[in-house]
Amino acid sequence: MSYPHAKASMALYTLPNQFIVEVITMKTFAVLTSGGDAPGMNAAIRSVVRTASFYECRILGIRHGYQGMIDDDVLELTPGSVGDIIQRGGTVLQTARCEAFKTPVGLAKGIATLQKHGIEGLVVIGGDGSFRGAYALAQYGIQVIGIPGTIDNDIPGTDESIGFDTAVNTAVEAIDRIRDTASSHDRTYVVEVMGHRSGAIALSVGMAAGAASILIPEEPQDPDRVLAQLNKARERGKKHPIVIVAEGAACAMDVGEFLRNHIASEVRVTVLGHIQRGGSPSARDRILGGLYGTEAVRLLLEGMTNHMVAMCGARVTAVPFTEVFDRQHEANLFYHRIADILAV
Ligand code: ADP
Repeated sequence: MSYPHAKASMALYTLPNQFIVEVITMKTFAVLTSGGDAPGMNAAIRSVVRTASFYECRILGIRHGYQGMIDDDVLELTPGSVGDIIQRGGTVLQTARCEAFKTPVGLAKGIATLQKHGIEGLVVIGGDGSFRGAYALAQYGIQVIGIPGTIDNDIPGTDESIGFDTAVNTAVEAIDRIRDTASSHDRTYVVEVMGHRSGAIALSVGMAAGAASILIPEEPQDPDRVLAQLNKARERGKKHPIVIVAEGAACAMDVGEFLRNHIASEVRVTVLGHIQRGGSPSARDRILGGLYGTEAVRLLLEGMTNHMVAMCGARVTAVPFTEVFDRQHEANLFYHRIADILAV
């Protein structure tokens, strides 16, 4: 048996010869997507499959996240089988939330499936909840690497998660349309964007859409502050201000009602909802999927486990799951301050 790619891998990563010896012991890996879907997950699946294939590893897909692991819903993946998916939103492996996997019985069933297929290493694409499932598997000797995939961008330890950039762009595009009608009628618009625990989408959307005010869950809500910002904007001639509300910060309908009672202009409320989850992934999310997938497989081949691949500055790196679990997500309050300055 020859290993033509092993040489290429050395060139790619300038790794020592010893790495080649490790690579050539044929491995079987699997990949699954779990938790909420995010655009760009398909690019990550494609990357994992093609990188594994590059290193002559066998790669299996597990459908419906941990539920599929319990149900033995497993399929063989090949470089060709992940063709034509890079541009598609959602996840071709489908995803699920699976309470049963949190129980000892569910976990045991999942491990039995992995053993049945000879799966030694697993790539989990999802949020920090999904990484807890991976962490549980690692306690039983399964090698696990996580890829951050959530539109909320609220996973500690990484600057970027797959899906965030697309969600922000989708919301900004929608708000640009809303702005057209807002300016035609001199209306104030309150727009609710996704983010239960995190104001990341709201802050980026607010910055990019030129919001007059942004409400995020990480900061105390002060209706008078919103009012003051709108009045200030109006004083300098802005007739159609936009207020961005993260869903976890306040109920957009209540914010709209409050404003109706305090300002003269007509107030409309729009909840963008699940359109932010769907659609073709942005170039950035496809690139992230490519980078993260390659790195995840490389880490598995190096014998690494219990880590999440991450973007730190402009570098792809790896962060231990324990660090992800221990740290709190922090809002980018710098964006908030800048957005406030630019709104005046
Ligand atoms: P996300 O990955 O987007 O944060 P969730 O928090 O809903 O999504 O987690 C996704 C899935 O990960 C859960 O439905 C469950 O199957 C699995 N999971 C979460 N926490 C644990 C845990 N402590 N032990 C085992 N599995 C878990």
